[in-house]
Formats: sequence, structure tokens, C-alpha cells
Amino acid sequence: MNKHYETIVVGAGVIGSSIAYHLAKRGHSVLLLERGTIACKASSAAAGMLGAQSELKEGDDSLFQLAKASRAMFPALSQELKQYSGIDIGLQQKGIYKIAANEGEREELLAYGEAQRNLGEEARWIEPEELQRKEPAVSSQLSGALFLPNDGQVSAPDLSKAFALSAVELGAEIFEYTDVRGLIKEGQQVTGVKTNRGDFDADHVVVACGAWSEDLLGKQDSVLDMYPVKGECFSVKTRRRLIQGTLFSKGCYIVPKAGGRLVIGATEKPGTFEETVTVGGLFPLIKEATQIVPELALAEWETAWTGLRPQTEAAIPCLGPHPEYSGLFIASGHYRNGILLSPITGKVIADLIEGKQVPHEWITTGNFSHRGVNL
Ligand SMILES: Cc1cc2nc3c(=O)[nH]c(=O)nc-3n(C[C@H](O)[C@H](O)[C@H](O)COP(=O)(O)OP(=O)(O)OC[C@H]3O[C@@H](n4cnc5c(N)ncnc54)[C@H](O)[C@@H]3O)c2cc1C
Repeated sequence: MNKHYETIVVGAGVIGSSIAYHLAKRGHSVLLLERGTIACKASSAAAGMLGAQSELKEGDDSLFQLAKASRAMFPALSQELKQYSGIDIGLQQKGIYKIAANEGEREELLAYGEAQRNLGEEARWIEPEELQRKEPAVSSQLSGALFLPNDGQVSAPDLSKAFALSAVELGAEIFEYTDVRGLIKEGQQVTGVKTNRGDFDADHVVVACGAWSEDLLGKQDSVLDMYPVKGECFSVKTRRRLIQGTLFSKGCYIVPKAGGRLVIGATEKPGTFEETVTVGGLFPLIKEATQIVPELALAEWETAWTGLRPQTEAAIPCLGPHPEYSGLFIASGHYRNGILLSPITGKVIADLIEGKQVPHEWITTGNFSHRGVNL
């Protein structure tokens, strides 16, 4: 007879691993299934920015609240994950500068800063001279920056592994190289999964397969439509630390990591599962990044990579119980912000499985048509 689990989580990216961690911490029996290895897809490709204020736009109200709640979880989480897994997730709380390359962008960012302050958020305008004093490697040709001191960053691959290994430390099981090929259903109830290593039974199944979630869920009117958005990134190394905070412009971002590494990203190509790094993708990133930090032209090349961001047509994560099958939950479609949103996603799904109250506007599974989202 198959071993029975309270919850099976499918997909060991940052989202599935966070869910497994939150459930294991609450004493649930959890099995995390991954067709490759832990965080082998988007979650290791990410730059790791915690850009609640720098990434989200006006109108993203409930997503902004979700993002802020998640960002606030990182300091305690970083200690907890270190304690359970021994992994340092590389949390840096040095802020993000949204760079104005010209007068037009300066006007836009001044208005954005005011809107953020009106919402009670910290956002400070930095004139070019002050920017040069704070970040001397930054070009003197810029038109200033909006400094968002509460946005930060982590090491994305380390965060994902820390979630997964902490879950194991707390009693969860993880099977890598295990491809989930279908859901087992009894009427309208999901009772387990079919895999290349046999069937596994559970009271609850969570689909956290990132850009591949629809392979298991299929396309249905009552579940958000999902599609991949390819992103290309590269990294370089410098002996001297060039910048302290993350620089975020219209054309690229530059994220300083430990040991003089800088991660520079990222392109956006929707609708493709193709994962090659291209010269045409990297070239504009290199051009833009060296305009912002000219000394980058002297940095040592490290590597380049791609990842597939899971996006939904409604441009919000698909989060909550499946509207038609009991026992089935969905946590996917975190697009550019899955690292930022991973702690709150783990908590929300664990709360839902335990039957606890969750702010209704965060649950996005249900009946709706595209963009007319039923929040
Ligand atoms: C270039 C780039 C830069 C980014 N930068 C940032 C950033 O700075 N900050 C931020 O917050 N976010 C960022 N993101 C977004 C973030 O990476 C994603 O939102 C997040 O990683 C999504 O996590 P996930 O677990 O849903 O998906 P994934 O990490 O893709 O994980 C899904 C997992 O499911 C597995 N899987 C799929 N199907 C099956 C199956 N049938 N059976 C078993 N396993 C299966 C896959 O192998 C995969 O490991 C970036 C993304 C990219 C590509």
C-alpha cells in the first residue's frame, strides 16, 4: 500500500519549497516532488530582489499588500532558515535605487515617490550629486534616483534550498527526479498523484509547478491562464565592491551579491519555453548596465543563464483552492516576484490547508474572466 501523506507539494521551486517548509513547521506530513532537482528552474535564475515597492505598479493594490507582508517576513525567516538548514540566504537590506536616465524618467519617478509616500511607504528622491556620493561608481550623467530603503535582496538559489532543506529537517520528504504525470481523482476529490515512480496518496495536493503548472491543471475557465516569460541574465565579478544598493533602471537591474559578484538582468520574452542564452538578449543588458556603472566594462565575465517566469493572463499569482476539485490547491504565476512572494505564499497555502482565515483578496482562484478578476 502507498504511504499516505497529509499534503503532497508538486514542484520544488521557491514556491513549493516554501509551502513544504511552512506545512512541515506546523507538524504536517509532507512530500515534495520535483522532476529535476531542488530549484532547478526559475527559482535559481532569479536575481533575488525583494522589490515590493520597486517592482509593483499603481493598481496592484492587493498584490502590493501581499508583497509588503512577504517582504516583512524575511528578517525572521533568514534566522529560522539558518537555524534549520545551516544556509545563509544572503539577506541584504540596503535598498533599491530606481534610476532616472533622463528628465522624463526623473518626472515619472518623482511622481511615483510621492504616490508611495502618500501610501505611507518610505521613498526618498536622490539628486545626481548625492547619488554619486552614496554610490561613487554610478555614472555622473544620470538624472537622479528614487531610493526605496525597505526593498532588499537575497540569494535566490540559497533561499529555495534553505526552504527545502529546512522542510526536510522538520520531517518532510523530498523526492527529486520524480515527474508528476497526473492527478488521482475520486469524483470531484483529488486523492493523490501519479508519477514515474508510482502513485502517492494524500489528503491535499498543491500544484506549484511554476511555468509548467497548466500541464497538470489543464486550461479551465475557472483557473487563471498561465504562460512562461523567458528572462536572460548574466553575472560578472569585480575585486572591489562597486555598489552597495541594487540599481534598477528601465533597461536593466544590477544586483550586488557577496564576494564582488554582480547579477545583471533581465530580458522578457513571453510565450516561449525555449531556454537558450542569446547574444541579442544579453547585448542590450550589457549596454545599459555599462551606461549606469561604466566600470562594469572592466569586470570579469562570470556566466549567463535563462529562466522561465510563470505569469498569468490576469497578471496576478494564481493562489488558493481549486474551484472545482476539493483537496487540490494552486500556487503559481508569481511572474517577476516569486522570490519576494515565497514566504507569504507558503504561509497562505498552509493556512488554507488548515482551514484558517486568509484575506479574501489574496485568493485568486475562482470564477472570473481575464482582467476582470474576481478578488
Ligand atoms: C531572470 C529572472 C529573474 C528574476 N528575478 C527575480 C527577482 O529579483 N525577485 C523575485 O522575487 N523574483 C524574480 N524572478 C521570478 C522568480 O524567479 C519566479 O517567480 C519564481 O522562481 C517562481 O517560482 P516557482 O517555484 O513557482 O517556479 P520554478 O522555480 O520554475 O519551480 C517550479 C518547479 O516545478 C517543477 N515541475 C514542473 N512540473 C513538474 C511536474 N509535473 N512534476 C514534478 N515537478 C515539476 C520544475 O522542475 C521546477 O523545479 C525572476 C525570474 C527570472 C527568470
